[in-house]
Amino acid sequence: MLIDGKQIAAQVESEVRAELGQLGFAPGLTVIRVGNDPASEVYVRNKARKAKELGFRGEELIFPDTMTEAALLGKIETLNSDNNVDGILVQLPLPKQIDSKKVIRAIDPEKDVDGFHPVNVGLLHLGQKALVPCTPAGVMRLIASTATQAEGARAVVIGRSDIVGKPVAALLLNANATVTICHSRTRDLASIAREADILVAAIGKPRFVTRDMVKKGAVVIDVGINRVDGKLTGDVDFENVKDVAGWITPVPGGVGPMTIAMLMSNTVAAAKARRG
Ligand code: NAP
Repeated sequence: MLIDGKQIAAQVESEVRAELGQLGFAPGLTVIRVGNDPASEVYVRNKARKAKELGFRGEELIFPDTMTEAALLGKIETLNSDNNVDGILVQLPLPKQIDSKKVIRAIDPEKDVDGFHPVNVGLLHLGQKALVPCTPAGVMRLIASTATQAEGARAVVIGRSDIVGKPVAALLLNANATVTICHSRTRDLASIAREADILVAAIGKPRFVTRDMVKKGAVVIDVGINRVDGKLTGDVDFENVKDVAGWITPVPGGVGPMTIAMLMSNTVAAAKARRG
């Protein structure tokens, strides 16, 4: 069966609206873009637009690609001490002269709605309350929508990036799944993948996961976004896997729509934790 990311994202958004209604103030989300990367332009615009649509104080700050690291750090310091700002997101990648690790570390962890600050990463891996990266949080929500129990399930995550693979694996572990992480050095990946009740692909290689890698009835979550001949294509060979999987996300329309929805959810959570 198909997992409809658009519909589940809309559900998350309506929950966010309801929470905003109860807060009595409009939380502030500031999204920063440095430079003119075309993909970043779209992401930042969409994030700020969705924030305003749902009733946040959404602010988009755009700086030239010549901005210095010191200037960006100064801006973050100002936002950290602004009580009306609940969430700060710096869109990556940043221009070469700026060390993105340093920038992420400069964000107040309580306002780190992307969940990339080492404090939030640490809390997540300790199984404690944290601001969780948006795409991984969205993946968990999609799995939950299938009513599949993560507890006790065999979960395989292909990909170990800091932004997707590792946090997805941590969330699955926190949900009591038995988790295996595969990567480019994994031997006999296909047979490991075939054991998965829950299979998450976050590789960045079009149609990498083929039918023979999927157990019958598995939940298959495809995080990949690849452009092939001008078309968006996932990391899973959707056409051939869909009949063997119990549940599967399409690309587009699966994980993609969840990311911004979870960002909104994180921003409400950050606002409530700080001044709710
Ligand atoms: P990444 O940083 O490039 O990481 C890719 C991971 O895949 C690495 O851990 C790499 O292993 C592994 N890998 C690469 N080739 C492999 C192979 N042949 N066999 C096994 N593992 C292999 O990518 P990412 O940032 O995690 O993103 C993954 C995909 O998700 C991309 O298509 C990206 O566009 C997409 N994405 C989507 C969203 C969304 O909102 N839907 C958000 C973020 C990312 P090593 O560590 O050994 O190199």
